[in-house]
Amino acid sequence: AVQNDPHTTLVTETAPIANDTHGGRAKCLQRLVRLHLPVPHTVALSFDAVARIGKGNLPDVQAVVGQFPAGTLLCVRPSSQDPDWGGPGAVLNIGINDTRFEALCKTIGEKPAAALYTRFVQAYAVGVARLDPDMFDDVKGDGRLALQASLSAYEAETEEEFPQDPATQLAAVLRSMARAWDGTSARLLRQAKGAPADAGLGLVVQQMVFGVGTGQCGAGVLQLVDSDTGLPQITGRYLSQSQGRDALEGDAAALYLTCDPRGPSFEELVPEAFAELTAHASLMRQRLRAEMQVEFVIEDGKLHILDGVRVSRSSRASVRIAVALADDGIISREEALMRVQPRTLTELLHRQVDPRVKRDRIGRGIPASPGAATGKIVFNATEAQASAARGEPCILVRRETSPEDIRGMHAAQAVITERGGITSHAAVIGRGMGLPCVVGASNMHLNMAKRTITAPDGRVFTTGDEITVDGTKGEILAGAAAMQEAALDDTFTRLMEWAQDCADIGIRANADTPADAQTARNFNAHGIGLCRTEHMFFDPGRLTVMREMIFAATGEDRRAVLERLLPMQRDDFTQLFRIMQGQPVCIRLFDPPLHEFLPADKAGQRELAEALGLPLSQVTRRIESMTEYNPMLGLRGVRLGVTVPEIYEMQARAIFEATIEASRDGEPVVPEIMIPLVSARREVEMVKASVDAIAAAVRSERDATFTYRLGVMVETPRAALRAAEIAPHCAFLSFGTNDLTQMTYGLSRDDAGRFMSDYVQQGVFPEDPFHVLDQDGVGELLQLGAERGRKAQPGITLSICGEHGGNPESIAFCRDAGFDYVSCSPFRVPVARLAAAQLAI
Ligand code: PEP
Ligand code: MG
Repeated sequence: AVQNDPHTTLVTETAPIANDTHGGRAKCLQRLVRLHLPVPHTVALSFDAVARIGKGNLPDVQAVVGQFPAGTLLCVRPSSQDPDWGGPGAVLNIGINDTRFEALCKTIGEKPAAALYTRFVQAYAVGVARLDPDMFDDVKGDGRLALQASLSAYEAETEEEFPQDPATQLAAVLRSMARAWDGTSARLLRQAKGAPADAGLGLVVQQMVFGVGTGQCGAGVLQLVDSDTGLPQITGRYLSQSQGRDALEGDAAALYLTCDPRGPSFEELVPEAFAELTAHASLMRQRLRAEMQVEFVIEDGKLHILDGVRVSRSSRASVRIAVALADDGIISREEALMRVQPRTLTELLHRQVDPRVKRDRIGRGIPASPGAATGKIVFNATEAQASAARGEPCILVRRETSPEDIRGMHAAQAVITERGGITSHAAVIGRGMGLPCVVGASNMHLNMAKRTITAPDGRVFTTGDEITVDGTKGEILAGAAAMQEAALDDTFTRLMEWAQDCADIGIRANADTPADAQTARNFNAHGIGLCRTEHMFFDPGRLTVMREMIFAATGEDRRAVLERLLPMQRDDFTQLFRIMQGQPVCIRLFDPPLHEFLPADKAGQRELAEALGLPLSQVTRRIESMTEYNPMLGLRGVRLGVTVPEIYEMQARAIFEATIEASRDGEPVVPEIMIPLVSARREVEMVKASVDAIAAAVRSERDATFTYRLGVMVETPRAALRAAEIAPHCAFLSFGTNDLTQMTYGLSRDDAGRFMSDYVQQGVFPEDPFHVLDQDGVGELLQLGAERGRKAQPGITLSICGEHGGNPESIAFCRDAGFDYVSCSPFRVPVARLAAAQLAI
């Protein structure tokens, strides 16, 4: 019956077994059988069969037992579709009873036979009879006495004899494993790992090979690569007179597999079996096309292969393993690309807290910029700079950051803010700089007056205390945590080259400074998609000039101060153009409200009054008069361009003069100029007229020729809706999805961090829309804008430059919408590129 029943099928070369009917383990075992490896007799139970068992409908257990040579013991192991989804633990030595025990005593000896029986009694008691594992705590030693004690404990608890019929034992084990899979916690656990609600469980019933008995007996695991580094290295453990994965239980008696200075090895103990085992492992790598961990048993010197599972691996190992398999011709480059998760690349690009260390967590927030760093707490930019001058690494802790903090961020190793979300100032700047950053860390209490942070458990930290920021996980840890360095090696570079060959959507970088541009260049970005020019004014040397410009009483005065900013901006742009060597560079004209550049506290205002030679009261009054209730919706972006045109005029001139400068010694530069926060056609017409006039003036003054491309940032809903009338004036539209998300939802990007986690936890939003593009709402505006813009101006370049540009799901959306490129923080370029390649494969 069994042979004809696809639901309880003997694993042979031809049996109908598939991942999605019998699970990954059953399928893998069939592959091993096809490779003629010494795999013990195995029967696979399908998902359907196990589901029926769970409901109380057992298959013909006698028939299953009948598939195995008479008198053999069996083991049952789970076989889910994806090994990551878990499953109940394996049960070994099923079928042993008093009679078989006595018989085994004669063939393999009393002590090993007792060990087999004891193990089964205890596993049965805990797994099937659901008894408390602690009841066996007093069972000491091994041999017949331990067996008797285990049996007595079982019988005392259950008031029944230990079942002696092998078929009854097997039926009970199958039932308990099927039911364990249906338990609530198992269900939640696997769903958290991405398993569908109806994920099935298969089971494999396998003939036991004893790792105990006479001659050399034992069990172990072997793999050909190191799980941490992914480098070729035979690793694993072997324990004589053991079963299952006992060798991995930290037993000091377990041997290393190959010659090892730490002690004797399996290789020295049984050289032939070792040679056979490594040959099998290589064959498995070759034919299963993956690095496998091989589970094996030696019985009286003879090797048996019980199982193979994919080697567990760190992020860096996953890259090395995929590239090595492709290099060896085992898988294609495309397949290697598909095997690396884009998100895991983030872990290679930055230092990380060593995943093996225990974490002393004192706070958590939004993981705003990945990587980790340790340093002493400082509470403002001045302290950060002083700390840096002393050569002491520091962590800048702020309620939130503003342009004034930029110099502190440059001096610090990492930043924590109590407020803010994924697109807040600290987050955007941190990502751009590659500086680890946690924002919205509101579960730590920050007292700026006392200069303390208090952890949820009451511990207080102050200036000079050492902490670690884990920007990848969004955690703050006490003290210095052990780190793992970034791993940008040759394999990473090669994988990126392959990705570049496959990807069919451009990847640009958001870069504001020469350092950012250099990072973008190193990651082979296809240009700069967004240069936020205002970041250039945060430099301490320029901030005062900037403030002078803001305080200018008349347009004439303002022009005079801008004259001093002009050469600085020209240098900025010349450097960017040179670094990007002929790649497009898209420069966004000035965007933020001017008052962001003014000091918020009295001390700063006093300093400013001194620098400007004005009375303090006048400075304070002026600052107050510029304050806005809703600055993100106030006088900023193109609205400044219209009302204070001198700033954009200076920037346009700086861009064109830099264009001439950089084209002198390299390829001709074609700058892209982008207008932010547009909501009306007339805004574009006005700025375009002014920029055209500056271009004409510079051409004639310098007697030079150059072209440029003018574009609009679509970041208000109205700009998306009115794209048809805006597009005819531009060469490109770039969707600024940070502001567009903010305005579509009416959700402040700087304040949403306070309640976003509640919203996500309660399922109001599936995810933070500042992090993952809201395809339904904001996405519809993107589609509308793209369609209307393209219809009015066929061939117009379309792109996205909000933070979503580096998010794999959002990239998929943009690719489907026919966008030309996405632009993201320089350090996310590799992640975006791999995601783009996977979409194209
Ligand atoms: C945006 O709004 O999406 C954008 C890229 O601009 P910023 O983040 O500078 O407002
Ligand atoms: Mg914006």
